[in-house]
Amino acid sequence: MPEKFEVIVVGGGPAGVSAAITTAKAGMKTLILERGDFAGSKNMFGGICFAKPTAQVVPEFWKTAPIERRVVEYQYWLLSKESHVQIVHRNQKFVKDFNSFTALRARFDKWFAAQGEANGATLVTRTTVTGVLKDSSGKVNGVSTDRGDIMADVVIACDGANSLVAKGAGLHAEWKPEDFAIAVKETYSLPKEKIEDRFNVRGDEGVAIQIYGGRPEEWAGFMYTNKDTISFGMGAIMSDLAKDKVYNAPMQLLDWLKQHPSLKAILEGCALREYTAHLIPEAGYNKIPPLFADGMLVAGDAAMLVNALNFEGTNFAMISGQFAGKTAVDAKNSGGNYSANQLAMYRTYLENSFVLKDLKKFREIPHYISTHKYFLNMYPDLINDLMYKFFEVDGRPKEDHIKEMKHELYTKRGRIGLLKDALGLYRKVFS
Ligand SMILES: Cc1cc2nc3c(=O)[nH]c(=O)nc-3n(C[C@H](O)[C@H](O)[C@H](O)COP(=O)(O)OP(=O)(O)OC[C@H]3O[C@@H](n4cnc5c(N)ncnc54)[C@H](O)[C@@H]3O)c2cc1C
Repeated sequence: MPEKFEVIVVGGGPAGVSAAITTAKAGMKTLILERGDFAGSKNMFGGICFAKPTAQVVPEFWKTAPIERRVVEYQYWLLSKESHVQIVHRNQKFVKDFNSFTALRARFDKWFAAQGEANGATLVTRTTVTGVLKDSSGKVNGVSTDRGDIMADVVIACDGANSLVAKGAGLHAEWKPEDFAIAVKETYSLPKEKIEDRFNVRGDEGVAIQIYGGRPEEWAGFMYTNKDTISFGMGAIMSDLAKDKVYNAPMQLLDWLKQHPSLKAILEGCALREYTAHLIPEAGYNKIPPLFADGMLVAGDAAMLVNALNFEGTNFAMISGQFAGKTAVDAKNSGGNYSANQLAMYRTYLENSFVLKDLKKFREIPHYISTHKYFLNMYPDLINDLMYKFFEVDGRPKEDHIKEMKHELYTKRGRIGLLKDALGLYRKVFS
């Protein structure tokens, strides 16, 4: 007879562990199944985590968590071929009112999973879930693994972007290449003092940078400071890369980025420690699959719960995982009713939180950007040109510079185009 748990959580990432902490804390017999050698061994991200959602799952997490640096400064870089325009926001409020921190997933997820165990969940690693089991009524009642079957009242699928478990249960359609970004990341060693000098930080202060532009392709890059390493990488939508396999390959873009004059000096003397690649589900609200079925819930990346606009995924994973756990606890308290009707409460919890509110609010943005690609390639160039003309001192009157700036604006996009773009973006973001 296979062993039985009340809750099986598939995946020991942020979504899975948050779900497991919630059910285990409520006294439910909870099992986390993780295919890696340890939680985090197979995981990667850019990397910042957000303090308040993390504290919502593990109060006062900062006392024990392997935090690299507390982010005090956020930057946007808009590149052209040989220049960049930088938008910087540094604020001491981020120190007092802890907002986000950099982390390395191999360390952070391992620590996070240990919090699951400390709260009573059982963690079993090196075990791959191969599918869900169903009873004669079609209700999910367990999982099959490469080490045998395990039964459960409810299964919570938190197995990441490619969720085979949700697919097996019919809760995850085959996503298309335009729904995913493929991201590559390199981690570089750099002595602490050099990080402090190059990024103007002290102690455990850190910097988070998002980078766009400078290429005909659409892509987005990132750079984060850790204690004595730098996380650096970029991602692009899979269908865009497929269009031009040679020139758009992510590694080629990353190599180009490393040679960019604005970034080269920052990376000088850094030693490459690690290279990783991963998928990010970026299609947003309009592509969210069904989130529950009889005996089953889906959370985190497996449910497409990522805000690509703001590079937010771990917070969506943690809070959706927590709500999935809460829904399982409610179901137990309702007399052990794990039907889809009862589990539907999960969607209501998400709708009342930032998770579905944010994704709904920005639901048109992924499509808007993909059909208005010049936002990521032409505009960064244009803004760089305008800044150059603004600062250039060449003996000519400023009136000539202004004329040239206007001419460039109108010829590159036209007055009506500029107006349309400004209004279009305003409507998508603020209305
Ligand atoms: C390059 C990159 C940069 C990113 N940067 C950021 C960032 O800076 N900030 C941010 O908040 N988010 C970022 N994200 C997004 C973030 O990483 C994800 O949204 C988040 O990790 C989702 O958590 P999850 O628990 O749903 O899935 P995952 O973290 O993917 O965890 C899934 C877990 O399930 C396990 N698993 C998978 N299949 C099975 C199976 N069949 N059986 C058993 N176990 C299984 C995996 O080994 C893994 O441990 C980034 C993502 C990428 C790729």
